[in-house]
Order: sequence, then structure tokens, then C-alpha cells
Amino acid sequence: MSEVLVVGAGPTGLATGCLLRAAGVDVRVVDRRPELSGPEDSVLLWSATLGALGEIGVGPPVQLAGRAVHAARYVDRGRVLARVPLQGEHPHLQPVVLGRATLQRLLCERLAQLGVRVEWDTEALQIGTSGHGVSLVLDRRGHRAEAGAAYVVGCDGADSTVRGAAGVGWEDVGAAGDGDSAYAEIEARTRLDASTAHVFRSGGGVVMLLPTAAGTWSVVGYARDLQWGPRPGTAQLQALLDSCGAAGLVRARRVVSFVPGDGSRGVAATYRAGRLLLAGAAAHAHPSRGGEGLNLGLQDAHNLAWKLALVVRGAARDRLLDSYDAERRPVARAALRDTAAEERRVLAGESRMARWVRGSVPAQLRRDGELEHRLARAAVADADYTGSPLTTGSRLAGADHVPGRPFRVAPGVDAAAAVRGDGAITLVLVAGRDGPAATLPVLHAVADRHAPRVRALAVPGAPGTGARPAAGYVLGVRPDGHIGYRGPASDRGSLEAWLRDGVGLLPGRG
Ligand SMILES: Cc1cc2nc3c(=O)[nH]c(=O)nc-3n(C[C@H](O)[C@H](O)[C@H](O)COP(=O)(O)OP(=O)(O)OC[C@H]3O[C@@H](n4cnc5c(N)ncnc54)[C@H](O)[C@@H]3O)c2cc1C
Repeated sequence: MSEVLVVGAGPTGLATGCLLRAAGVDVRVVDRRPELSGPEDSVLLWSATLGALGEIGVGPPVQLAGRAVHAARYVDRGRVLARVPLQGEHPHLQPVVLGRATLQRLLCERLAQLGVRVEWDTEALQIGTSGHGVSLVLDRRGHRAEAGAAYVVGCDGADSTVRGAAGVGWEDVGAAGDGDSAYAEIEARTRLDASTAHVFRSGGGVVMLLPTAAGTWSVVGYARDLQWGPRPGTAQLQALLDSCGAAGLVRARRVVSFVPGDGSRGVAATYRAGRLLLAGAAAHAHPSRGGEGLNLGLQDAHNLAWKLALVVRGAARDRLLDSYDAERRPVARAALRDTAAEERRVLAGESRMARWVRGSVPAQLRRDGELEHRLARAAVADADYTGSPLTTGSRLAGADHVPGRPFRVAPGVDAAAAVRGDGAITLVLVAGRDGPAATLPVLHAVADRHAPRVRALAVPGAPGTGARPAAGYVLGVRPDGHIGYRGPASDRGSLEAWLRDGVGLLPGRG
């Protein structure tokens, strides 16, 4: 019996396997496909996703294989609304466009380096749970065998067997969309800047053009009056581009691949049913136009793996896993609602972006570049867990180190100092003007009670300025880089309560 069995070796399952294994968990990954295969559709990986991939250990090869996207340009009825620089927190977090098949190959290789081989041609058929674990029937090329695991993570895509076994249905989040979006990869003649994502919209539709690593363009969008056949040709793609306002700027020469929108969208009613957990496309379905499914799936894995590692090793109470649902489901719901609302506005002839830029944003803001800054932050933003039951501490608006948000120490530096991919929580002392000497030993004493699951370190001052606050404070940085706790450096009791009652750590275990 393994500690965790991951069903599905798509991007989400592979990432989950890597993160669990790196945290010391005995994990199996099975997939019904005969081998690693699949289309090389291009996906845009956001910086939060790249942070997770970096932690997994595939950051540099992902950047090497992908094409960096430095800006997003929005053109509304022929008028450039904004050109938004897309900068990650760090050069290695620069958003990139990468083929899905390449990403899966890199993750698969990393998993093998960590000592886990994907079991291909192995389908999970029956799944049953008891108080002690999960039993499965696995079919390997017609041979059926029983298997057991303490927990099963269903990363088995839209028609998830695990979700079915858990009896979990789809929740209506009011995200029904009207647009028939489609994805295509095309060879094109264009002078558009090939380091930028270009969004064109008009009353007729909206299209995003992404430069791919192969030198082609990926086209995601829809037009109000366009019906897609099973294999549209260049003329139809050109009609899409033209009706969205890219006429004369992009000339489609060949359609390399085409995937029609299937209209699927929804969120599982829960991401956890006892020992069964759902992640990625098994938990949420997005229209491909949103460009979100894969990013959110990898971030699900990042959120879930450290919690599951602590629980299976006996270092934390099982209820820590409830926070996975509490934190990740709202993110998928919000993404779906945003996409649907945007679609409706576009079809009604008015996009949120257009309205905002034309109407409500003062000219001053636009001149000063603040608009670009805000849009860029929205485009690469990390999930925000400020409302999570795992988050404790003062939520001072505009303050540094906000509980629920990612931990940053200075511009250009990410959470690498605190997050090392080993599943440990880091207690960070942000030294006050009185210096760290008095408090750091206390922090070490707290960490030692939970070693090696908790460690302590000190950093100088606030992010951005490095200035020391009047009073020092302590942060509890989760293994996924989010701040779970913030409190006064002198308040040892609250910190211990967060570890014990919030996270549910069991001292001296695991
Ligand atoms: C054309 C296109 C463009 C896209 N563009 C973007 C984009 O720009 N940005 C973005 O974020 N997302 C994008 N997406 C969405 C993204 O690709 C998916 O969200 C992502 O592939 C989901 O990954 P996953 O690992 O959760 O599931 P999947 O990739 O669906 O993998 C599920 C795996 O589970 C296996 N499996 C299923 N059932 C079983 C079983 N019973 N036993 C064993 N194995 C099983 C399957 O064989 C499969 O390998 C795009 C999708 C498409 C189609």
C-alpha cells in the first residue's frame, strides 16, 4: 500500500507526484494512456505557475524550451488601449509560452529523477474508501490487480473516475458562457512583435494571439457570427482575425492544428471527499479561451502537495486537507465567473477592459503608467488566501507581508530564501530596529519542537525598501510560499497556536 496514489499523469498529476516525492512521500502515479503523448498546444504559463515549476526543479528547462512573453497588448476597435509589461517577480518567473507535451515531458523526466516512474497503460477502474485507506482496481493491459493507498489524488481530467467514485458533481457557479471559443495554431505572416501577447477585440469578437516557441502563433478566440466546422481552414481563421480587428495585421498562411471549444465549464462541488482529493481538470473545467485550466491545475498541486505530505507522514492532523478545498475552489470559481462575465460583455459590445480604460480610469493614471502596472499585476497575480481558515494575523491594507499573500523579501527576489521545495514551514523574523538577537532564539525553540517540518530564519526589513519596521514581526511562511501567519515578534503564544490549531501540526511527529 502506497501513501498516495495519483490517478492521471497529465500536467497536474505529474506536478503533484514530483512535489509529494520531493517531500518524502511514497507515491505512485498511474495513467491509462499507453505512453507519454499528447498535443503540443501552446499554453501561457504565468509567473505564479513558474514559481511552482521552479520549486519542482524544472524552472530552467521550462524557460529554455518556452518563448518568453514580455508584454500584453490590448487593441480595441483599432485603438491600442494598453501595452502591459508582464514581468515576473524575478527573471526566472517571466511568463512563457510552452507546448503542453513539452511541459509534460519535462515533468515526467523530473519525476523519474526523483525515483518515480509513471505507470502507463494503467487505468483506475474501481475506487472505494474505508476509514483506513483507499482500495482500487487497476487495469494494466487487460490484467486487473488490486492496489491500496492512504490517499488518492484524482488528476484524471474532465471525465474523472475519482470524482465519480467520490460521488462529487459539478456546482453551478453561474458561469455559463455564450461564446463558441476555439483554439488554433497557425503559421502567419505578420509584423506583430513576437515577444508580446496580442489581444484584439471588436464588436464582432475577441482573439488572443500568442507567439509560440516553434515560431507559429497560437490563436484563441471567438467571433459572434462565425460557426466552426470540424477542420476549419485558413479562410475561416482569417475571418476570425479580421472580425476581431486584426485585418491587415495578420495573414494566416496555414492552420497547423485546431481544437474547437467544447463549452465545458464548471467547478466540482468539493475538492475533497474524505481520502479522495481532486485537482486540475478533474476539479474545474474552463473554456480554453480563458487560458487558465493548466495554470490553475499546477497551482492546485502546489497548494495540495505540502498539506498531504504533512498529513500522510503523521506530522499534521487530517483536517489540514480541508483547507485545500477552502483555498483552491474559490480561485477556480472566480476565474470562471470572470471569464464568463468578460464573454458576455464582449458579446454585448463592451469589454470590462475597454470600459475601464475609456471611462473610469483618470487620464493621469494612464499617463503615469500606473494602469499598466495594475494590469500587469493582475495578469501575473498569485492566488490570494487572505480569507482562508489557515491564515491568521493582522491584515493591514497596503502593508508589507500581508497574511494570505505570497512572501516577498525585496524587488527581484522571490520567496526562495524561505521556500526550498522540501515541504517545510519557515518562521521568518523580520527584524525590528531593536535587532533580531532577542527573538531569534525563541523562534528557533518553537521551530525545534516541529523539526524538520518547521525551521526559522531572519530577514532584514520590509520588502522593497529593506527598511526595518519599528517593531519586529514574525511570519509563518507556508511551503507553497504564501504567508499563513503574521504577528508581533514578542507573541510566541499566537505563533504556537497557529502551528497547533491553524495548521494542525503535531509536535515531534513526522
Ligand atoms: C487547445 C487547448 C489550449 C489550452 N490552452 C491553455 C492555456 O493557454 N492556459 C492554460 O492554463 N490552460 C490551457 N488549456 C487547458 C489545459 O491544457 C488543461 O487544463 C490541462 O491539460 C489539464 O491538466 P490535467 O493534468 O489536470 O488533466 P489532463 O491533461 O486532462 O490529464 C488527465 C490525465 O488523466 C488520465 N486519466 C483519465 N482517467 C484515468 C483513469 N481512470 N485512470 C488512469 N488515468 C486516467 C488521462 O489519460 C490523462 O493523461 C488548454 C487546453 C486545450 C485543449
